[in-house]
Amino acid sequence: MTISESKDLTFECETGNYHTFCPISCVAWLYQKIEDSFFLVIGTKTCGYFLQNSMGVMIFAEPRYAMAELEEGDISAQLNDYEELKRLCLQIKRDRNPSVIVWIGTCTTEIIKMDLEGMAPKLESEIGIPIVVARANGLDYAFTQGEDTVLAAMAQRCPSVSTSEINQKESNKFSSLFNFAQKKIQSNEQKLNLVDHQPLVLFGSLPDPVVTQLNLELQKQGITVSGWLPAKRYMELPIIKEGNYVCGVHPFLSRTATTLMRRRKCKLISAPFPIGPDGTRAWIEKICLSLGIEPKGLEEREQQIWDSLTDYLNLVRGKSVFFMGDNLLEVSLARFLIRCGMIVHEIGIPYMDKRYQAAELNLLEETCRKMGTAMPRIVEKPDNYNQIQRIQQLKPDLVITGMAQANPLEARGINTKWSVEFTFAQIHGFSNARDILELVTRPLRRKGNLRELGWNTLIE
Ligand code: SF4
Repeated sequence: MTISESKDLTFECETGNYHTFCPISCVAWLYQKIEDSFFLVIGTKTCGYFLQNSMGVMIFAEPRYAMAELEEGDISAQLNDYEELKRLCLQIKRDRNPSVIVWIGTCTTEIIKMDLEGMAPKLESEIGIPIVVARANGLDYAFTQGEDTVLAAMAQRCPSVSTSEINQKESNKFSSLFNFAQKKIQSNEQKLNLVDHQPLVLFGSLPDPVVTQLNLELQKQGITVSGWLPAKRYMELPIIKEGNYVCGVHPFLSRTATTLMRRRKCKLISAPFPIGPDGTRAWIEKICLSLGIEPKGLEEREQQIWDSLTDYLNLVRGKSVFFMGDNLLEVSLARFLIRCGMIVHEIGIPYMDKRYQAAELNLLEETCRKMGTAMPRIVEKPDNYNQIQRIQQLKPDLVITGMAQANPLEARGINTKWSVEFTFAQIHGFSNARDILELVTRPLRRKGNLRELGWNTLIE
């Protein structure tokens, strides 16, 4: 087998025989993000085993998720699905009293065609708690796409009228007080030089400190973020009106983007994702451009970050990397690493939405040209077996992969980085670029430290 280098981005599609996390794993970070939620995964013991193991120590912290384990009787339709779910949801209401229950559909509910979407509205009105249905199953999706299914479902629940508007319609009694508050907000806005622009809602679940950082970066350009999907609490879902601007922070949210555009009639800002200083700058610039604002000081800000990364850049420059692909962050990370001076052989990715990722793909091409490196091949639905053959041939300095391949590759003298860490680490925005390089260089530094011991390859 020969592997050729291309001058343009090449897209290939393999068999889809690859390792990744099941999308139901999104409950792990979403229940932490949405503090008043409860996630009910309706599946089998297989799903339960997976969650129990993948979530590690979090499982002992009384998480706000549970499994509704289907039994023989459920599958053969001897039991009444509706009554069973009602019993469980009432128990959740009694024990935890959440503001929303999210039902996560699994492979089994798909195969036995359990009508979750049909049951939810009826049960919702009966028990008085909103029920959001997301089909985050392993038949259709991979890992982070689970968040996409949940957010797409939540996008439909975002209010289109603010409570203050409703109250105002009902009574103008407090109008003077309201005006006073408005004036106070206006004077604050003047202090920050905020520009009057169309409302902007950002979507994608990020840890709260990163949300604050990105809000502040945009504020420096005079932009106010009207809200985030998801917010810290379900009750604080952002107001979304027709014609509002929306922009994503993750490369895996194509369904949410589609829902916001088609169902909520929002205007999508297609931008590269704010990963790495190059991506963050491009993301802010694109938002400014769409809102008719002149971006300022971004070039210096980006340069400042690059300067602060010099020690890491010296370590990675000229090294090669191979993404086996399992979390859809691959294109953005590869683009950043190429900009850092690395050579990317292959970008494996579970699913590629060329429309949603268009700006990111353009930036990837532009970066390759700027850095004078060959364009990587993008392999959608990769075949792990074939990839291992290519890795053996290419001998990359680093393979970014799942835990299934990491140790076997290490034993064969190939450096690996566990890909899942990129999903949970804080990698967005200017200041977190350091964290990405910290992760990428860790195996390289370890190899340097252990070289003297002389057992790099343990298996022939
Ligand atoms: S792939 Fe299907 S059966 Fe397996 S854990 Fe995910 S939802 Fe459950």
